[in-house]
Amino acid sequence: MRPFGYAAPATLDEALRALSESGPGTKVLAGGTTLYDLMKLDVETPPAVVDIRALPELAGIDTAGSSELSFGAGALMADVAADPVLRRDYPALAESLAKAASQQLRNMATVGGNLLQRTRCPYFRGGLAFPCNKRRPGSGCAAIGGLDRGHALLGGSDACIATYPGDWAVALIAFDAALDVAGPRGRRTLPLADLHVEPGDRPEREHTLAWDEIVTRIRVPVTAAGRGSTFHKVRDRASYAFALASAAVAVTLGEGGAVEECRIAVGGVATRPWRCHSAERELVGAVLDRRSARRAGESAFAGARPGRHNAFRVELGIRTVAEALRIAGERAVR
Ligand SMILES: Cc1cc2nc3c(=O)[nH]c(=O)nc-3n(C[C@H](O)[C@H](O)[C@H](O)COP(=O)(O)OP(=O)(O)OC[C@H]3O[C@@H](n4cnc5c(N)ncnc54)[C@H](O)[C@@H]3O)c2cc1C
Ligand code: SF4
Repeated sequence: MRPFGYAAPATLDEALRALSESGPGTKVLAGGTTLYDLMKLDVETPPAVVDIRALPELAGIDTAGSSELSFGAGALMADVAADPVLRRDYPALAESLAKAASQQLRNMATVGGNLLQRTRCPYFRGGLAFPCNKRRPGSGCAAIGGLDRGHALLGGSDACIATYPGDWAVALIAFDAALDVAGPRGRRTLPLADLHVEPGDRPEREHTLAWDEIVTRIRVPVTAAGRGSTFHKVRDRASYAFALASAAVAVTLGEGGAVEECRIAVGGVATRPWRCHSAERELVGAVLDRRSARRAGESAFAGARPGRHNAFRVELGIRTVAEALRIAGERAVR
C-alpha cells in the first residue's frame, strides 16, 4: 500500500472542508472494508482519506416515521439489518443486509459505503496485467470472451460487463429510495435510481456522485408493500458470498390474490441495481401464481445478453424472481 494522508473530522462541515483542501482523488472513508482492500490492490490510490465514522450528522436509524424510513449513511449494516421494525415491515430491506458479506464485515461496514462498493470483476481486481477499461480506460476488457461466469447479463456494453455486486441498493431501488447528499456546492437529494450508471463507453464512471460529495442519509418512502416483501439471494455458498442472482420483490394483493402494487428489482446480474418496470406492469392486475410469477421473471430477463459461461444465470435469474414473488405473496397484506 502507498502512503496516504488521513483526516478524522468531527463534523460534516469539517469533513467537506477536509475533502476540498485535500483535492481531487481524496476518498471518503467509512468502514474501510472495501476501500482499504482496493488500496492494498493498488486499484484505489487516493492521496488522502477523510474518515467520516465520527460524524453525528451521518448517525441514526429512524423506522418509526409515518411517511419515510431514514438511515444515516454511517449506520452499520449489522444495526440496520437487526432493526425490529424493518425486519417486520420491510423484510426485503433487512434481508438484503443480513445476507450480505459476513457478520464481522457487517459490524464494521456502513450502509452508505455499501452503496458505493465497486465490482468484484477478478480482472479489475487482478492487477495491471489484465486489460480492463474500468481500471485503465482504453486498455480493453479481459472479461468479454474470457471468464465471465459472474459477469452481467443486463446493462453491459462492448467496453465492460462488470456486475454491480451490492445487495442493499437492489432492495432500496425497489422501494424508490433517495439519498441526501452534502457537498461544497450545497445539499441535494438524489433518487437512488440516478446514482449508479451503466458502463457505456466510460466504464470508469460508476456513479453520479462528485468526488467531494458525501452521502449523509438514505430515505425510503413508507409503503404497505413493505410487509409483502423479500430479498431472495442465490449464491455459490449459503452465506458469505456475492449473489449469482438476487431479487428484491414487494407486493400488495387484492381480492382473489390479484396484484395491486408490485415492485421488482434484480441484483448480481446487471451492471447496476436493476429495477424491472416491465415485469411489474406484467403482474399488476394478475393473480399471483406460479405461472404469472414465471412470466414476470421472463420479462425481467427479456433483454439479457449472456456471454460464454454465464448463460445458466438467465434461467437462474428468472427462477429467483419467481421464487421471490412466491415468498412475497405469502407475506403480503391482503
Ligand atoms: C469478503 C467480502 C464479502 C462481501 N460480500 C458482500 C455481499 O455479499 N453483499 C454486499 O452487498 N456486499 C458485500 N461485501 C461488500 C461490503 O458490504 C462492503 O465492503 C461494505 O458495505 C462497504 O462499506 P464500508 O462502510 O466499509 O465502506 P468503505 O470501504 O469505507 O467505502 C466504500 C466506498 O464508498 C465510499 N463512501 C463510503 N461512505 C460514503 C459516504 N457516506 N458518502 C460518499 N462516499 C462514501 C468510499 O469513498 C469508498 O469508495 C463484501 C465485502 C467483502 C470484503
Ligand atoms: S468487465 Fe469491466 S471491470 Fe471487468 S475486465 Fe472488463 S472492463 Fe474491466
